[in-house]
Amino acid sequence: MAVNLELIDIQSLSTVLEAVNNMSDISFAVYDNSGLLIIPSKQEDRLSSQIKSSSLGRKEFDKFIQSGVERALIRKEFSVIKGFTNQNQLFIPVSVNGSRLVFVSNPFYYMQQDFEEFVINKGQLMGLNADQAALWGKMLKFKDPAEIERLALSLKPLFETLLWCSYEKNLNSRRYQWARTLIDVLYSVQLPAHKEEVYNLIVDAILFLFNVNTVSIFTKDQSSFVAHMTSGRMRDDMSCAKLDENNNMVARCFEGFSPVSTNDMIEISRMKLPESVNSIHLFPLSFNNIQYGLMAVYNSVISREETYSILEFCKLASLVLNNLSLQNAYDKCIDDMSLLRTAVTRLIPHIHNLDTLHDTIVDTATDLMKAEKGSLLMPENGALFVKAIKGINKWLTKDIKVRIGEGIAGKVFQDGKPLLSKNIGALEIPYLTPKNHYKTDSFVSVPLQFASETMGVLNIADKISGEAFTERDLHLLKYFASYASISLKVFSYYNLAEEMKELSITDHLTGLFNRRYLQERFTEELHRSERYDLAFSIAMFDIDDFKLFNDSEGHIAGDSVLKDISKITRDCLRTNDVMARFGGEEFAIIMPQTTREEAFMVAERIRIKIREAFLYKWKKFPKNSLTISMGISSFPQDGKTAEDLIKNADQALYEAKAFGKNKTVIYSSTR
Ligand code: GH3
Ligand code: MG
Ligand code: MG
Repeated sequence: MAVNLELIDIQSLSTVLEAVNNMSDISFAVYDNSGLLIIPSKQEDRLSSQIKSSSLGRKEFDKFIQSGVERALIRKEFSVIKGFTNQNQLFIPVSVNGSRLVFVSNPFYYMQQDFEEFVINKGQLMGLNADQAALWGKMLKFKDPAEIERLALSLKPLFETLLWCSYEKNLNSRRYQWARTLIDVLYSVQLPAHKEEVYNLIVDAILFLFNVNTVSIFTKDQSSFVAHMTSGRMRDDMSCAKLDENNNMVARCFEGFSPVSTNDMIEISRMKLPESVNSIHLFPLSFNNIQYGLMAVYNSVISREETYSILEFCKLASLVLNNLSLQNAYDKCIDDMSLLRTAVTRLIPHIHNLDTLHDTIVDTATDLMKAEKGSLLMPENGALFVKAIKGINKWLTKDIKVRIGEGIAGKVFQDGKPLLSKNIGALEIPYLTPKNHYKTDSFVSVPLQFASETMGVLNIADKISGEAFTERDLHLLKYFASYASISLKVFSYYNLAEEMKELSITDHLTGLFNRRYLQERFTEELHRSERYDLAFSIAMFDIDDFKLFNDSEGHIAGDSVLKDISKITRDCLRTNDVMARFGGEEFAIIMPQTTREEAFMVAERIRIKIREAFLYKWKKFPKNSLTISMGISSFPQDGKTAEDLIKNADQALYEAKAFGKNKTVIYSSTR
């Protein structure tokens, strides 16, 4: 592996070498594994310098260093090698994380004899005359081999530790720089953002920071990943690249959320990548088992450190993509909620009329689904009938009867489960006959349900855009259907309440019979009295100054008085007398087989009882007590019909008021 010079701290290495030089008088040069000089020696050996000044000398030296470095790297241990000047040089190979360097000392002689031999054999060749040789001979200093060995033994671990530290330090600061830049890149994504922006950032950051050849982002498209965005030198080649999700490399990448790479041409051709690809690194983009895509780096050498930094970056990028898709889902939910709210609001004004409610449900659902056709089917006598329709002529479907369990609507009704079909042909439903009046093959059909009851089926077909309905459409329609079901239920309860009101015979405040019932009983009594020639009387009474009472004591007290008066009166009557609340504070009593005189006595008893019951009971009401005025008419002398008898009793009551209130008056036609 080539030495990664950027990861070696040349400065501190030079400082240490200088210190070693000062302490041992041996200086070192540093070479890489190819024999390239990285740090020159601080202190040149003067004899060598002179020899090196000739081209032959230079060549010999270079050759020697080259072979010395090679030998040292093979041996891995330090060696002292004798060169062509008979000088020795110490070679210390040091390896750190696969990068190898060789520390080479200055040349030195062990003894005088070695120098003299050199002078004799090669002195002249190297341009050294006798005088110079004699001079050099006097100046030379000799090293002790044992001392050199001791030095080598202690320097090797020192150099290794030093290199290791500087390598780690530089690597860490590099990692820190990558991480900072990559995090900054992702942090700069401003929401709301589009996925494209994030892809762009990923691609640019990897290209720029790791100086790679080409980067692609693959995104999922059904069962394959397609190159969605590519940047770099091979950009044009990659535009149509596709990776199968079952490809071994792709599967492995997601399985362990780990980078995978290959430069095996067979494997690359299996991935059906363009011919220009000679290596690929794949990184996963996924979060919580959701696969967002893959990032591919082509034709680039990436170190282990870089690979892990890129992987961490991909994790962060996946988080950002996950964040985007959550934001997207949230925005859609908010949109759907507002659409639903508008839709539901359209139903509210129609909950009193079933036909318009049916029509509004279909119209609104069709609009909500942005569709052309819709229908609502409801059950009647064991089959489903079209109650409202949009987009198809009403008269065509007038007589359509769908058997429960048959066809789409019949099945949805029976199962109580919604159905979304993207392609009607793929459905297996009994008695399903595809209709040719539909433009598309996609539809949605949902049951209208309330509690455990299925009330009908809502069908929507033919999206205006011609596209198929989506899961989101189905969800939206399901929610709308539950509101529609509630509105239909509200209608039926409202209807029921109206019917109940029709059927009721009592007044809810006083518990007395109501006016409608009184009239029924009146007619019965009239017929019976006619048939058996019996007398009967009717008394009508009204509370005196009740408006004033309400104004001074309040309506709640007024209501309670109405209840008390009803009770007091009832207690004064026989069981077959019929008492009813005739109006607000007006009451009527039918007294069968009772003459006007008998009726007068009953009336007076009631009037007095009431007056006594309320005597001095109220603080704000200006009168001593509450009183009533009563009018009586009797059959047959005061009238033969219910209308006449009531009218005349009322007339008598009017007179009682006119005579000063708190009175009972018997009707007289002569007054
Ligand atoms: P008068 O002696 O002429 O009958 O005078 P009045 O104030 O009673 O006049 P009137 O009969 O026209 O007024 C009826 C009042 O009865 C008006 C209304 O406030 C009150 N009233 C009618 N129904 C109810 C009811 O259900 N509860 C209460 N608290 N008040 C009622
Ligand atoms: Mg009145
Ligand atoms: Mg009154």
